[in-house]
This record gives sequence, C-alpha cells and structure tokens, in this order.
Amino acid sequence: MSVPVPPSLPTRQRLSEVRYEIRGELARRAGELEAQGRKLIKLNIGNPGSFGFRAPAHLQHAIADDMDRTDPYTHQQGLPAAREAIAAAYARRGMPDAHADRVFVGNGVSELIDMALRALLNPGDEVLVPSPDYPLWSAATILNDGRPVYYRCRPEDGFAPDPNEMETLISSRTRAIVLINPNNPSGASYPRELLERIVAIARKHNLLLLVDEIYDQILYDGAVFEPVAPLAGDHPCLTFSGLSKVHRACGWRVGWGLLSGDGARVAELRAAMDLLSALRLCANVPGQLAIDAAVNGPDTISPLCAPGGRLYETRKAVIAACNASEHLQLVAPAGALYAFPAVIGDAALGFDDHHFALQLMEEEGVLVVPGSSFNVPYHNHFRVTLLPDAATITDVFARIDRLLARRAEQ
Ligand code: PLP
Repeated sequence: MSVPVPPSLPTRQRLSEVRYEIRGELARRAGELEAQGRKLIKLNIGNPGSFGFRAPAHLQHAIADDMDRTDPYTHQQGLPAAREAIAAAYARRGMPDAHADRVFVGNGVSELIDMALRALLNPGDEVLVPSPDYPLWSAATILNDGRPVYYRCRPEDGFAPDPNEMETLISSRTRAIVLINPNNPSGASYPRELLERIVAIARKHNLLLLVDEIYDQILYDGAVFEPVAPLAGDHPCLTFSGLSKVHRACGWRVGWGLLSGDGARVAELRAAMDLLSALRLCANVPGQLAIDAAVNGPDTISPLCAPGGRLYETRKAVIAACNASEHLQLVAPAGALYAFPAVIGDAALGFDDHHFALQLMEEEGVLVVPGSSFNVPYHNHFRVTLLPDAATITDVFARIDRLLARRAEQ
C-alpha cells in the first residue's frame, strides 16, 4: 500500500511577490558550478571582505580588547556608549536632535529597514521607493503589508529622481519616501537642491523620510555627500548607516538608525521602534564595541576612493571599459560600490538581462546581477561591484564585451 505524500507546507503568500536576486537563482547556480570545479569571478555582492578588504585595525582591536564584556544582552536599542558615539558623530554633521535615545543599533541596516517598515505600515499603506532600488526596501515594504510605489530615477537624468513626478505618485495611503543616497545600484549621489525639494514634498504631505546612507563616505571624483536629516530639520526622518560598507565589516552585522525631527511627532514611532527592538532582545554585541572607533576614529575609506586607491582605480577601469565598448553605456557612479551599465546597440536587440547573466556565467565565468532585479521596468542593465582590483575588472569587461559581440552578430 502506498503512503500518500503529504502536500508541501504552505508559506506566507506575499513571499511570492518578493525578489532578492543578488543571492537568488543565479547565485545558486554559481554554487553548483563551483562544486564542479569551475572558477568564477563573482561580482554579485558588495561584500568587501570577500575581495581581500579588512575592517580597519583600530576597529578590530576595539572588539578584541573588550571581548570579555560581550556575553550579556545589551539594552534593546544598543550599548549606551555606542549610541552616544553615534549621536555625537551625527550631531557634528548637523543632525538635529541627535541623542542616544533616538539611536537604534541593529544587526545590520537590513534588520532596521524591516523594523522601521514594520513599525510604520498598516495593510495597504504605500511607500515611495526609488527605481532602481536596493531590493530589500521593496521586499520589506511588501512583507510588512505595504505597497512599494516606484519613483523613476532614469539613466538619462544621471539616475536622479524627478521631484515633480515623485509628487504625482503620492496618495492618501502614502506614508514614507525612501531615499538611498549614494545609491545602490546606480551610484548616483544627490545634490543638496534636489534633496531640499524632496524634503519639501515630504513636509507638505506629512511623509516620513527613510534615508539609507550606508554609502555616505564612499564618493569619487569630488562628489559631495549631503546628509538629509539636517535639511529636514524638525520634519521626521530616519537615517540609516552602519559598519558594512564604509568600514568594510559586513560580517559583523552592525547598523544603526537615527530618528530626527520634532519630539512630539516622532514619539510614537520611537516607542514602536523601541518595542520591536526589545522583541529581538539586542543586536550582536561584539560588533557594537567597534562603533565608537568607527564613527569617531580616523577616516580609512577616503584613501581607497581617491586616485591611486583601490576603489578609485577599479571604478576608473570600469568607466574606461564601458567607454571603449560599442555595446555598453555607463552613467559613471559618483559613489557607492557598484556600476550599473546598460547594454546598447545591436547587442541590446531582444536582450533579456537574466538570460544574459546566466550565459555570462556559463560561458565566461562571471557572475553579475541582472538590472531588473532592482525593480526597474527595463531589461538591458546589469550590476557589478567595484570591489575587485582594476586588473580583474578589466578582464571581466573583456569577457562581457566578448559575449556581447557574439550576441550582436547573431
Ligand atoms: N542598504 C543598502 C543600500 C545596501 O546596499 C545594503 C547592503 O548591500 C544594505 C542596506 C544592508 O546592509 P547591512 O549589511 O548593514 O545589513
């Protein structure tokens, strides 16, 4: 007698709307190829540690020296000393009301993005999200019963949003505007006047500003970073950053969020974030010991972004490769750790970015992320990280060009 196989356990339905292809199907296939002995150049994740970068020594020491203090849970919002260090650092850059009580330390910015949207949204609420976006913003909106409404950041505008267009997307259900600056994946960094216009829209429509500034000090060729919170003043704003990128310590899982704006207006949100923080007890404690050294210590990222620095030279090599290619067009990234080129010309005819990424991996041994993974309505872009050295990225672009030339001939 055959025993009936029980049906698969159902999971949350809205998961079917969520995509995170940076670690998705292509990455799984990469794992299979590697298990078969294939050597791949994997440019899908902005993970400095896997490209030979180390967290600065003074951060490592800050943890090692006090490791024996890290056994207990901390306060749910984070170690008081770490939060005071963050508040002091942001007060210096003009953050209004920077105070340790308004700082939330999380297991990476990732956890705090989810927490903030969980604190904010009721079913059917809408969030204005950039397109392209870092896809966690869309995923966390959807999984907290909200709806991402995309404002376009078009390549022809240097991937800057159009505030007029943004305003037309606002409805009675809109609760927040997400800004990712400098942007992942486009590398755009927004000028002050543009940010002021967006702040004015948020103010007019009473929308929370959710500002992801995790790449705030990764800037090239004189690009200037403008923090949004000082421009927002008493208007509610939640600013995020952390140790993963600027301090090259992704694996430590440390991020923070700072709530600024009028005390009475942000009181409920502050309490909600505190409750959600308490429910997950606290963030990774060893990592928190490095926060003071990171935010108040020497700048170790600028030399990497300046001429002769590793990130600068790789970015330069990407720009040169795209300029030399008849198949590629690039808006040079002003900041962050990525390039987001477009495929153009004959090679772009019938182009499907997923198929291309798979073919690139199978035929040329390079893993990139298809552009449509970043919630854009076009299929001719891909993202690479700028973390490998210049020689590797030049080799990668030679392989990409070779494949595109083959496709253009077909
Ligand atoms: N926000 C952006 C724009 C990112 O690119 C990333 C990671 O790549 C994160 C947030 C998440 O970072 P964390 O490692 O702090 O969770």
